[in-house]
Amino acid sequence: MSAHISIENLCKSFNGAPVLRNVNLEVKASELIVIIGPSGCGKSTLLRCMNGLELFDSGKICMGSITLERHEGSKTGDLNSRLRSLREEVGMVFQSFNLFPHLTLIQNVTKAPVVVKGMDRKTAEEKAKELLDKVGLGDRIDYYPSQLSGGQQQRGAIARALMMSPRVMLYDEPTSALDPSLVNEVLQIMRKLDEDGLTQIVVTHEMRFARDAADRIIFLSEGEVVEDAGPERFFTSPKDPRAREFIRSYL
Ligand code: ADP
Ligand code: MG
Repeated sequence: MSAHISIENLCKSFNGAPVLRNVNLEVKASELIVIIGPSGCGKSTLLRCMNGLELFDSGKICMGSITLERHEGSKTGDLNSRLRSLREEVGMVFQSFNLFPHLTLIQNVTKAPVVVKGMDRKTAEEKAKELLDKVGLGDRIDYYPSQLSGGQQQRGAIARALMMSPRVMLYDEPTSALDPSLVNEVLQIMRKLDEDGLTQIVVTHEMRFARDAADRIIFLSEGEVVEDAGPERFFTSPKDPRAREFIRSYL
């Protein structure tokens, strides 16, 4: 699939309460998009819709060659197979690192490709070592999560997601659970992957990262995209008053 993402008129509600209202979003291959907005505005729900963890009420999501529409009427088997393809193409990293505590780093990273995708163990281990090297953990492959710092665990979680060779990576507040001194080492990995040309969508409150690293910033307010701008414009002259207020409260 090409990495082009397009979201059209996406609507999602929980128990009748709208959480995403007509979200439209286009992402070009290799872009780094930062999504910001106040707590509860729908950021996590949007990411979860994009990797099929959450079904939606109306609208359309195209992630490369995979299209998801409101599922009503389509055969469940067909939907499931599209969701499976989608999850292979889209990697996701959460705030909590979710590494298995009883597995070493390399076991954590190789588990899904070997068990789910039937990747040969030796190939998986070679690829895992390469990726763990890339995220600066080449000398920690036999450590258990409890022996690693939060930043190291999160970098391990990124390596784990990269094992499936995703075309797109989604991050939901990847540094929010980290000690401030460890935030940068994780942001650094996303910058590096950006240089490699990976398409990435990052929900974060790290405003300096948003300003320096993002190609575009999306500001969500109560489930609506109210600002979609380059970082320069977003931080100097946002047109929506809610975005202005949010930026003021952060800077
Ligand atoms: P954000 O990530 O921007 O903080 P979320 O996407 O997590 O926002 O949540 C948006 C809104 O949807 C919130 O009001 C939240 O309470 C509600 N919500 C999220 N997930 C669920 C769920 N599974 N069931 C019911 N309401 C939910
Ligand atoms: Mg959230």
